[in-house]
Amino acid sequence: MDMSARFEREGGGDMEAAEGPKGFLGKLGSRMTRARGDELPNLPTREAMLLLRNYEESGKGWFWSTDAAGRITYISGAVARLMGHTPRALMAKPFAELFQPADSRCERQRTLPFLLTRQSKIDELPLRTAADGGERWWAVSGQPFFDAGGRFAGYRGSGADITAQRRSAEDASRLALYDSLTGLANRLHISKKLDTTLAMLARQQRSCAIMLLDLDRFKHVNDTLGHPAGDALLKQVAQRLLKIVGDKDRVSRLGGDEFQILLPEMEDRGQLGDMAADIIASLSQPYSVEGSRCIIGASVGVAISPFDGTSSEDLVRNADLALYAAKGGGRGRFRFYSSDLHQAAEDRRALEDDLRDALARGEMALTYQPIVNAKNDTVTGMEALMRWEHPERGPISPALFIPIAEEANLIWGLGEWALRRACTDAASWPGAMRVAVNVSPIQFANADLPKIVMSALAASGLPPERLELEITESVFLGESDETADMFKALKAIGVRLALDDFGTGYSSLGYLQTAPFDKIKIDQSFVRGATVAGSRNSAIIAAIVALAEALDMETTAEGIESLDQLDLIRKLHVSHVQGYVYSKAVPHDELLQHAESGSWTIKPAGPAKQRNDRFHMFRKVGAIHENHRYTVVMRNLSATGAFVEGLLDVPVGTQFVIDFGEGQLATATVRRSRKHQQGVEFEQSLVSDGNGGLCTRHRVSPYLIAAAGQNLSPALALPAFTCTSDWQAA
Ligand code: C2E
Ligand code: CA
Ligand code: CA
Repeated sequence: MDMSARFEREGGGDMEAAEGPKGFLGKLGSRMTRARGDELPNLPTREAMLLLRNYEESGKGWFWSTDAAGRITYISGAVARLMGHTPRALMAKPFAELFQPADSRCERQRTLPFLLTRQSKIDELPLRTAADGGERWWAVSGQPFFDAGGRFAGYRGSGADITAQRRSAEDASRLALYDSLTGLANRLHISKKLDTTLAMLARQQRSCAIMLLDLDRFKHVNDTLGHPAGDALLKQVAQRLLKIVGDKDRVSRLGGDEFQILLPEMEDRGQLGDMAADIIASLSQPYSVEGSRCIIGASVGVAISPFDGTSSEDLVRNADLALYAAKGGGRGRFRFYSSDLHQAAEDRRALEDDLRDALARGEMALTYQPIVNAKNDTVTGMEALMRWEHPERGPISPALFIPIAEEANLIWGLGEWALRRACTDAASWPGAMRVAVNVSPIQFANADLPKIVMSALAASGLPPERLELEITESVFLGESDETADMFKALKAIGVRLALDDFGTGYSSLGYLQTAPFDKIKIDQSFVRGATVAGSRNSAIIAAIVALAEALDMETTAEGIESLDQLDLIRKLHVSHVQGYVYSKAVPHDELLQHAESGSWTIKPAGPAKQRNDRFHMFRKVGAIHENHRYTVVMRNLSATGAFVEGLLDVPVGTQFVIDFGEGQLATATVRRSRKHQQGVEFEQSLVSDGNGGLCTRHRVSPYLIAAAGQNLSPALALPAFTCTSDWQAA
């Protein structure tokens, strides 16, 4: 072995204990150069050789040498093999070609070829190789050496494997940037990224959207299935988000069950709405977590720079406000930010305050909506629906205040009150009509519910079979033992159970077979969908009815308003109907009058057909035509057009730009015109605003408005059209 020859001749010396490349090898290196021509070392050569061999084999360090041309003359066997070669195969290969710079981004660092040609000392230069077992990093040191004539003869040096240190340093920086549970970007990372993205795009006057996302009912899963299950669920959520968004640096978990998505150069609210809807749909699919099935939902708030804010603080705050509104409007929705949400959020907080005292102040009441046998029009029961008569604001819908009560921890008090009140009322009815009471999933998750139910029955004297509890499918989301126990406890009391709002959530027919329901209530939206041409809802309703009959359950179609819907429902053999076609909810004393005789039959009445989906409204908007801005009233709006009032005798074919405010402009052509009314068609369809309304896909950028200045002035041209007296040009 030529290496041993060299050490015997030149190296060795009194070697101290090996202390790693810097200590021992570093000293060795300098001794090797200095020792040229010195006497033989004190230590027996063989012993020195064995020590070196041991050292090499320990993997702590390795040696190398080159000739004057930089070709390898020696390299430790172990490291050659780690690089995927035999030492022999590497002989005479240029040493510098074995490595890449460790960090390609670090440009200030001198490269190995540079140092070698300059004959400079190499001091722990970090280098990288791609080897079989993945990448490895090395710290390489070396000294030039010279022949007897003082001519440069090559290098001798050492190296050490620093892969482990590198990895742990990388892990540390990854930990600082990524969420350890899901591997998504963390809050710090995404907020920095948002800052830099916004700054860059603002310079180019381009837009950037962010979505804030919050899981619905995640807490329920965490509470019922435990934290490890909650963690597993969050990981799956992250995977689903990544699948839709694609880039892991754009999806972040902010903490808990909150996520943020960064979408540079997106401003099309049609696309953003589609994406938000995709996300909600994907996250609402069932999960399998530690052997249990569970279902959660998601709500999304969207804000777009520069329209909704240009700083990251404003944008995040406004997306948060939109998220808050999305949650307030019912779960599983998205919402775009708009400036009126500030007022809405304040209103909601004020309502929450007022709701705390509402019960004590006697502002709550129950109204009763008949549930009618579809075959003979007789009323078989009543659903108790809560009403809040607010001292200043008048009646407030339970659709608005029940979610507030649930979030503010007030639902338990309100729910217990409703249960007791409904039992007492029903006990006073002549005949045997049942009363149905809505039970929030939060009440259902409370182990005290059966006690309260028994107490309400006992206090009122109402037989248990005349009380029906309406429960939504969200109580199954955790599918825990507690849920099953609660069902058992309630059935043991003898009350009836109804599955409410079927068709709005995940709607699995599986629940029906496992949970002891006496009735399924098919949601209004599902029935409405059934009258739309091409819908499969009719077939599904028929299947539900067949299954319900087989399981000895009743069915109720909710929200039936028109005679054609009633017709369809009867054809599908749904057993009961609840809806305006029979009656709205009525106050208790009115109910007593109707039911005096002990029974109540109602003749259905209503429009022949379901109304179309146009939004009827009364809203002032701008209509811009040839440098002139008129104010008109919009009576009616659909995605493709509108009816406006306020201009006289506008010819068909006239083009307007309709200004909906907040930078929302739509080019529209007059298609119909009669005196002061015009039907206009939009050049580009409006899109859903996530809240049952419509908005334009794009908005005029504040950059553009700033650049254009005040171009529209009534003085520039004479108005082409006459405004009707009430609606003067602005
Ligand atoms: P829900 O349980 O689905 O109740 C039916 C809702 O549909 C009621 O709205 C009812 O007035 C409405 N409705 C009935 N027929 C028609 C129709 O033909 N057309 C239309 N457009 N609507 C119809 P309401 O009273 O505003 O209640 C909204 C929701 O608030 C209820 O939905 C229920 O989820 C909740 N809620 C009401 N009272 C209580 C309560 O005491 N406790 C709890 N936890 N929730 C309640
Ligand atoms: Ca209900
Ligand atoms: Ca319902």
